[in-house]
Amino acid sequence: MAFENLSDKLQNIFKNLKGKGRLSEADVKTALKEVKMALLEADVNFKVVKSFVASVQERAVGQDVLTSLTPGQMVIKIVNEEMVKLLGEQTVELSLKPSGEITVIMMCGLQGAGKTTTTAKLAGKLKSKGRKPLLVACDIYRPAAIDQLQINGEKQGVSVFSMGDKHKPVNIAKAALEHAEKNGYNVVIIDTAGRLHIDEAMMDELKEIKNSLTVHQTVLVVDAMTGQDAVNVSEMFNEKLTIDGVILTKLDGDTRGGAALSIRAVTGRPILYAGMGEKLSDLEQFYPDRMASRILGMGDILTLIDKAQAEFDETKAKEMERKFKKAEFDFNDFLEQMQQVKKMGGLNDLLGMLPGMGKQLKDVEIDENALSSTEAIIYSMTKKERANPDILNPSRKKRIAAGAGVSINEVNALVKQFEQSKKMMKQFSGMMGGKGKRGKFK
Ligand code: GDP
Repeated sequence: MAFENLSDKLQNIFKNLKGKGRLSEADVKTALKEVKMALLEADVNFKVVKSFVASVQERAVGQDVLTSLTPGQMVIKIVNEEMVKLLGEQTVELSLKPSGEITVIMMCGLQGAGKTTTTAKLAGKLKSKGRKPLLVACDIYRPAAIDQLQINGEKQGVSVFSMGDKHKPVNIAKAALEHAEKNGYNVVIIDTAGRLHIDEAMMDELKEIKNSLTVHQTVLVVDAMTGQDAVNVSEMFNEKLTIDGVILTKLDGDTRGGAALSIRAVTGRPILYAGMGEKLSDLEQFYPDRMASRILGMGDILTLIDKAQAEFDETKAKEMERKFKKAEFDFNDFLEQMQQVKKMGGLNDLLGMLPGMGKQLKDVEIDENALSSTEAIIYSMTKKERANPDILNPSRKKRIAAGAGVSINEVNALVKQFEQSKKMMKQFSGMMGGKGKRGKFK
């Protein structure tokens, strides 16, 4: 889970702080020393850590904090605020021209950073905002990069412009722009070639593209899991090319968080988006406040709500709510809910966004395979059984178990779990004061 290690350490430090009724200046200093260690171990840039801890300390040892009723909480609040500042404070959007004009975006980065995938992810985002993007395949060196862009473009329903690998990238880019002008595209996203390391040839090629056509946004894609290397790469690209922003990929697998916490402070350039998985929908707008909240283990309810809104069909949601209140929920609904959760990303990640859950989940490995066997069991039921779970007698259960390739105990467990959820729903709807009064239920 993203930031898991750092988050755990910080939460332990905070637990000690909160546990003390009164805090002395020495208590705060000791805690901040621990915060400093945790950040350094998370591979946050040394200078960034130093100035971060100094700012927190300056604010946290003041009398109004130490003599307050909840000094521990106050210190945590200050850490949170300073972390939001570190991450950039405001959300920065990619700067686009009005729809009537063409915005040219040049994507750059080292090989393997996730550039080609992110290019397609970004196109999907822009398309959903009503833009008409054209992807341009200028990564002519990495075998398969062109195919990969074409396949991903197709998945996103976005056109891809390619001239194979025999032309110079700058010429492909120019031709693509002409094509965009003629065919009414309003965003041109150029997938450039990366190299394993920064080298002159790559930079020259990028500069040539930048100088030959008007590039409105230069976006650097870096791999969060490479920690300080990602920060150094960002610094160098910014020096040579002047970047407008960074997209940080693979944050889903980054347990430390060093790159996320340092890039903005070191380069002065904002993080625009975060890559949170391999799927083309796994690209999140970067919100400094939500990110700080996740790092500090306070959860990220807002992102959870955004995800739900993006995936849920409103009519279906209303229908589900009605069933929920009336406790008419059956196995068909159960199946549908499971599929929604899958679409929203893994269960582990989703639960990690709930306040306090990240930590509690540390030792709980949610077995996503168990979900598949649940699905298999439900698929082995007849339509009638799914709609009327009450008719599930032992012989039906036996047949279902055989069909799903599981033991009859697993079928029993699922039915039991289902009944419990239903019972909980009744209680919930009672508490919510919904129309379905308790008395109405059997
Ligand atoms: P490029 O060489 O920079 O174009 O890199 P690719 O787009 O081919 O990506 C390299 C690998 O990283 C692929 O396996 C991608 O699926 C994977 N990848 C890209 N972004 C993410 C992300 O946000 N999370 C995870 N887990 N994997 C990613």
